[in-house]
Amino acid sequence: MKTRKPKKRRILRCFLLLIAVLPLLALRNLWPRQWRYRLDLNLPPAAVGETQGWRVGASAVAITPTVDYTFEDRNGDGYYRPKEGDRLRDPQGRETKRAVWLAGFGAGRPATGVHDDLWARTVVFDNGQTRLAITAVDLIGFFYHDVIDVRLSLPAEWGVDHLIIASTHNHNGPDTMGLWGRTQFSRGVDGAYLRQVKEGIRQSVQEAVDRLQPAEIRIASLSTGTEGFVRDSRPPEVIDDTLTLLHCTARSGGATLATLVHWSNHPEVLGGHNTQVTSDFCHYLREGVEKGLAGGPEGVGGVAIYWNGAIGGLMTPLGVKVPDRRGETHEGENFETCQALGENLAELVLGAIHEGPMQPLSSPSLSIRARTVFIPSGNPLLMLGMALGVIQRGSYGLKFRTEIDHVRLGSLDLLTVPGELYPEIAVGGIESPEGGDFPGEPLEVPPLKDLLSGEHPIILGLGNDEVGYLLPQTEWDVKPPHLYGRREQPYGEIVSPGPQAATVLHREIKALLEGWR
Ligand SMILES: [Zn+2]
Repeated sequence: MKTRKPKKRRILRCFLLLIAVLPLLALRNLWPRQWRYRLDLNLPPAAVGETQGWRVGASAVAITPTVDYTFEDRNGDGYYRPKEGDRLRDPQGRETKRAVWLAGFGAGRPATGVHDDLWARTVVFDNGQTRLAITAVDLIGFFYHDVIDVRLSLPAEWGVDHLIIASTHNHNGPDTMGLWGRTQFSRGVDGAYLRQVKEGIRQSVQEAVDRLQPAEIRIASLSTGTEGFVRDSRPPEVIDDTLTLLHCTARSGGATLATLVHWSNHPEVLGGHNTQVTSDFCHYLREGVEKGLAGGPEGVGGVAIYWNGAIGGLMTPLGVKVPDRRGETHEGENFETCQALGENLAELVLGAIHEGPMQPLSSPSLSIRARTVFIPSGNPLLMLGMALGVIQRGSYGLKFRTEIDHVRLGSLDLLTVPGELYPEIAVGGIESPEGGDFPGEPLEVPPLKDLLSGEHPIILGLGNDEVGYLLPQTEWDVKPPHLYGRREQPYGEIVSPGPQAATVLHREIKALLEGWR
């Protein structure tokens, strides 16, 4: 009895301390980095006669992580489960908990090797008046504050007026967002790797600027069709199967400088049990375009770059039967299916370049509008993950800071969207099905691509940020009854900022396109 009182008091004291410290920790975790940064950029097109024609430069810098440990995976499922006897060992054979945690699918998937390099691939466009750099990274996502870090680190003498960084949303690369660490509650991001990525992006921008030279740009948009290419795993079935490509060649000599391929699909052919670092179908697509395909057509050289589009709702190659170029059909989560998909895309691209419908980009006009915006984050799980420090993106109260950019590059009309946009918001077809949590008329109308007036409109997905799924409010479904009379809640909401995010973003984009308020 005598010892109980002080013990009780000690417990109470610890409890009070915890109550005082936890909110402080949460506040620290929620505090946005680069918190004062706001962008309000308006670079109008040059007056006729002021531009000197295009100059283009491109570069690819590897951002592959180092895998220097071994993973003993008892049941071979690709996931680290120490309770089931799985072990991670450092190069000295000592047990460790450190690993390159692969992003996408479940938490706790350590990389066991490198199949092909991950890249930061940059193209720079310059018309004598404005210089724009666009970098694509083979990552699951790259947060806005990380984009800002890179932008602010670019020396003025490189002359870059604006830098856009877009992720391909690769599901076989290191976690750069935090959700896929050893467990669901541990952050999967390695700070040193994030620094390596930022340095890689900087280097690729610098190299692309150094390589700027007079260029011709040709453009085409075609449809891949869906069969053998892409599937929509959540109703309504809306797929934008447009593939837009830009082919940039040197004005003297005609060598290829860059080939940009914009299409919309999840780079996740290899599925959730793969442990090899790879950039998925993007690898085979880019290699095919640069080096050619076995038995022809010939490659065009230069730097091939993949840009992703509206991939929410959910554009996936999983479960798609893909014929390879010999006529054999592949399915399942393996490198054969992955290669077949990438090469089929490369074949379409090369076909268009060699004998297809490529048109000169109408004029060397380049205008950029870019704006910081705030979107509501009504997802309590996401906010909890942020308060716990698993996801370190910061918030402004219950709002996320992010960015939207609009670029007119001749007849290319490019809009960045900072996440995974449901295609029905891009091309139309939003539904208001029974069971939705917010019934009524669709709100995110007209479709964004209808608001773009250029001949070749594209939505650059995961542009300058990855806020998650951006889904129409009338299709939001957390509470029963569920959509379309289904028993279960659909997948998507759990990795979305919230039900109002897309609506607000749509409004902001509309305002951006209509001109400054
Ligand atoms: Zn996704």
